[in-house]
Amino acid sequence: MEEATNGEPNEEFLKIKKGLLQSDELLQYILETSVYPREPQPLKEIRDASAHHQKKMMLTTPDAGQLMVLLLKLINAKKTIEIGIIAIDIDREAFELGFPIIEKAGVQHKIDFIEAPGLEVLDRLLEDPNNEDSFDYVFVDADKDNYINYHEKLMKLVKIGGLILYDNTLWFGTVALPNCLVPEKMKYNRDHIIKFNKALSDDSRIQISQVPVGDGLTICRRLY
Ligand code: CA
Repeated sequence: MEEATNGEPNEEFLKIKKGLLQSDELLQYILETSVYPREPQPLKEIRDASAHHQKKMMLTTPDAGQLMVLLLKLINAKKTIEIGIIAIDIDREAFELGFPIIEKAGVQHKIDFIEAPGLEVLDRLLEDPNNEDSFDYVFVDADKDNYINYHEKLMKLVKIGGLILYDNTLWFGTVALPNCLVPEKMKYNRDHIIKFNKALSDDSRIQISQVPVGDGLTICRRLY
């Protein structure tokens, strides 16, 4: 099976493995019953605007998005980072796709887009002591082979009680497949994700929950 050069599996593979639930119908049921009827208009517009984008397989699923919105409200998050699509991205074009919708929703003043690799930006943030232990919430959806490096830096930036969310932690279900069944091009990221999941499980500084929503979303709460 082929995948895009960025390491994300292509559409053909997604057709087979879309979602992690026992059937496509079950996912459709959740989306149609609980997600789409409650989806804020700007999020629907961003979903529509990116429906035909060549990297659309990298989009966060709307059910995972709904869970994140709930968490953000629960902790009343004010100072946040997103590493992957909006906020910090190596690809300005991905940000610009959503920008007119963000502007229309009147929230552009809340977003400080930084076009740079995530690790560099986190190092820059760490140079200012005021940023230590100050972030309420971080969503990480960038290069999977660096998740563990993001984690160590983010544990310094996120405050105690703050949340760090990691996307794609079930890597299209391949984490539980025998190696011989994993498509060759997925193996690199899959091996990194498996190691990363183990590292989070062993990390006593955080409380975790790995939620089988979207492609697997691990929610970490910093304890100390
Ligand atoms: Ca993702």
